Amino acid sequence: MTKREKFLAELGTKDTGSPCAGARRLAADDDPIDPAAASDAPSCALDRARHKMMETDQWNAAQLMGRRWPIGCVALEITQRCNLDCTACYLSENSEAVHDLPLEEVFRRIDLIYSHYGPDTDVQVTGGDPTLRRRSELIEIVRRIRDRGMRPSLFTNGIRATRDLLRALAAAGLMDVAFHVDMTQQRRGFDSEIALNALRRDYIERAHGLGLSIFFNTTVYAGNLNQMPEVVRFFVRNANAVSMASFQLQADTGRGVLGARAPCITIDAVKQQITLGAGGPLSFEAIQVGHSQCNRCAMAFVTNARVYDMLDNRRLVTDIAEATSWVLFDRQNHAALVRAFVIALLAKPIVFARGLVWLIRKIWLAKADLLAARGKVHKLSFFIHNFMDACALDQNRVEACTFVAITDDGPVSMCLHNAIRDAAILKLLKISGAAGEAFWNPLSGEVEPGAGAPMTVSRSPKTAKGRLKALGVDRRSDPR
Ligand code: SF4
Repeated sequence: MTKREKFLAELGTKDTGSPCAGARRLAADDDPIDPAAASDAPSCALDRARHKMMETDQWNAAQLMGRRWPIGCVALEITQRCNLDCTACYLSENSEAVHDLPLEEVFRRIDLIYSHYGPDTDVQVTGGDPTLRRRSELIEIVRRIRDRGMRPSLFTNGIRATRDLLRALAAAGLMDVAFHVDMTQQRRGFDSEIALNALRRDYIERAHGLGLSIFFNTTVYAGNLNQMPEVVRFFVRNANAVSMASFQLQADTGRGVLGARAPCITIDAVKQQITLGAGGPLSFEAIQVGHSQCNRCAMAFVTNARVYDMLDNRRLVTDIAEATSWVLFDRQNHAALVRAFVIALLAKPIVFARGLVWLIRKIWLAKADLLAARGKVHKLSFFIHNFMDACALDQNRVEACTFVAITDDGPVSMCLHNAIRDAAILKLLKISGAAGEAFWNPLSGEVEPGAGAPMTVSRSPKTAKGRLKALGVDRRSDPR
């Protein structure tokens, strides 16, 4: 019996919530990559990603996984605690009772990410809300990721992400900050997505000018779908600061009370709302990131608050993607990025010439706006992410997953992780030291004696609300 099978067998006998049979079967099938075999990352990681795309029938000229990237991004959950209680939350009912992972274990997981995917991997420092972790530890975690040559991003609801903290994190090597803001968070004093734009503006001001790329995450559900165009208009108006707007479709997973999504919440519906807000067509099918049912991505340039599609010539886009697959996307230094692209394209003169013709046409089309904006141009990406319901996981999509969470066993598809979160967060963690084998208990935060230590996994008597109260956090009292 493998380690994972053993734990899942135990899971069935514990009061940890009841993940549905499909998720448990997928977890048992999921065969984590042996870190020793993964040590020759990144080229092997790229090969593995390409094979995954082929095996799952997702390999085509537009596919970036296995061509440019071995993985989209890896979530590193450094706490399970949160100071909000979103109605679409992916955390577990047990999350608030779980102590923060020891720093050494977080560092071990960072090394595990590196051993699987190599340098330049995008690592989301997330939770819960990662800013609830001790400030000095958060800074050390970010520094460690950057020291390993990977790219740390902070995923936060922003409440505790002060400018001072962001400045310290930027100095430690943080590259991006992604603020999650939407109506599922029930922030006091905000009764619509349009009202929340004031909070988004505040967050932009906190992060702008620190050398960080600024992203926004928005959960889309029936209650805010029709407000999305206004949210998109806000991002367009602030394209000088915001570089990515990501939209997640509500999914029936975790402790959130919203449950199953309404039939109106589809990838196409969100695409339509984004397009409405952008004020013109955007190409969401020119590039593919992972499974076609999971992700959509569009890129635009914005000048004079007008949006121009960057991916409207599909053949040219795939030819450029192929020719520049080795170029690193330097989000901090656009000039360097453009230079690297041009150098790569000079090796393919025909593709370069076609690209130049496309660019001249675009400039001509945008000439009035370019003049009005005195030549200022900003790039804005739109991403749509279609998480799966915990009880309706599609094995093919899980296998082609581009967004994984790192667990003590290795990377696991985020949808699968959310579906069986308790299995990972309530697990006794084996710690080896000079005194021999011991176990870290996530519910007590204590290290317990060696082999044979009893599984003390059980639902905490504290509710999420009670735990927040014990922490001195009233989730409604501080809307930011
Ligand atoms: S997390 Fe889920 S929706 Fe996202 S890429 Fe992975 S399988 Fe697809």
